[in-house]
Amino acid sequence: MSLVVVGSIAFDAVKTPFGERERMLGGSAVHFSLAASFFCDVRVVGPVGDDFGPGEYAVLEGRGVNTDDIERVEDGKTFFWRGHYEYDLNTAHTDETQLNVFGEFAPKLSEESKAAENLFLANIQPDLQREVREQCRGARLAGLDSMNLWIDIARDSLVKTIGGVDLVFLNDAEIRMLTDQPNLVRAAREVMAMGPSVVVAKQGEYGAALFTEDGYFALPAFPLETVSDPTGAGDSFAGGFLGYLASQDGWQDEASLRRAMTYGSVIASFNVEEFGTERVARLTREEIDERFEGFRRMTALEAAPA
Ligand code: AMP
Repeated sequence: MSLVVVGSIAFDAVKTPFGERERMLGGSAVHFSLAASFFCDVRVVGPVGDDFGPGEYAVLEGRGVNTDDIERVEDGKTFFWRGHYEYDLNTAHTDETQLNVFGEFAPKLSEESKAAENLFLANIQPDLQREVREQCRGARLAGLDSMNLWIDIARDSLVKTIGGVDLVFLNDAEIRMLTDQPNLVRAAREVMAMGPSVVVAKQGEYGAALFTEDGYFALPAFPLETVSDPTGAGDSFAGGFLGYLASQDGWQDEASLRRAMTYGSVIASFNVEEFGTERVARLTREEIDERFEGFRRMTALEAAPA
């Protein structure tokens, strides 16, 4: 089963109380595809400038991500984001966004990407997300992420785009902002009324909550003693979640969604231990499985017999 993701491919400058990086590989589609690559074939779609070099391609290709649909713009500059975090690592403060090659981007997908069964519209301008959704007619499962910026300046377009997907991943604050509804349970229902049958509310270090038509499930985040940089946690979560579902031939039942929540939480927990893509780039399947079992023990009602 293959999974196509469109989103930002970026250079990020990030400062947290625990360190900083002036220029590192980032972007919503990059974090997503590295996470999903542990479960299924991933194709990444998006533009880069000629400053995007062999080292950056190597991180993606090192995890087997197909980069054929990365559009390289000669004389263009890759999307750039600068942000910082205070001690409250749940809130990213954006200091600078340079759209660069995204300013002119018109998605053109290869036939292979158009034929993918699974699609993720990572965080970018919602009109662009919709253009990709329309090209991927064959996708049986489509998910979407967004951010406060687009709710602020392109809400109508975002609502239209949400109408064409099955799963929505948003922070709890974004779900409230999108619906103007302070109660998260009601707010999630309102997002479902826009079209999707699954809504995931990401809650940073507190974990994530899953809403379906007749179900509810919540998971705490993995308890970590070292968190260096939360950038990309949301995209890694979505990558683990949808990558797992793609590997299972889609969403079969509530149990597969719960396992998807757990794989998403596992990959996100590794992502935040180091800066940018550093940790996930060298992650192994064994480490993922071990932490998955850690989640099982952590959430069991009865402690295992001694
Ligand atoms: P998150 O998973 O929410 O922490 O996403 C972090 C990634 O989002 C960073 O690597 C940024 O490059 C990217 N990003 C930040 N702002 C935007 C934006 N306006 N559009 C698309 N991607 C963005």
